[in-house]
Amino acid sequence: MSLTAGEMDKHVQLIADENQIVIHRSLNRLTRSYSMRVSEEIYITPIRSVLSYAVALHELGHVLGPNQSSPRVLVRERAAWKWAKRNALLWTSRMRERAEASIQWYEKNHRDIDKRQRSYLAASRNT
Ligand SMILES: [Zn+2]
Repeated sequence: MSLTAGEMDKHVQLIADENQIVIHRSLNRLTRSYSMRVSEEIYITPIRSVLSYAVALHELGHVLGPNQSSPRVLVRERAAWKWAKRNALLWTSRMRERAEASIQWYEKNHRDIDKRQRSYLAASRNT
């Protein structure tokens, strides 16, 4: 099975519409993609390939997927990728490699990220 970029974009938009999530497609680098769970928005690049499709679904997974309140970034990241894979219309080897590379990065860096978040939360409680 293969899909056109337009079909992948349509699918992402459909999920967003069903869940009243706002998509901003103005980023120019895939690695800058992010989600705002509180306001239910995602910031992505235009969907032009299976890679940008996978990342868009991953960001939707941060809003719609399970375990997103976990204090552990690795738990949140793994759950968002799992959600992306489960909801994708296709899951190619390039998409799998992208997910694995991202999770591997977080496996190396999760302690620092969690620590930074903990001290941020502690500081904001004290103000
Ligand atoms: Zn993520």
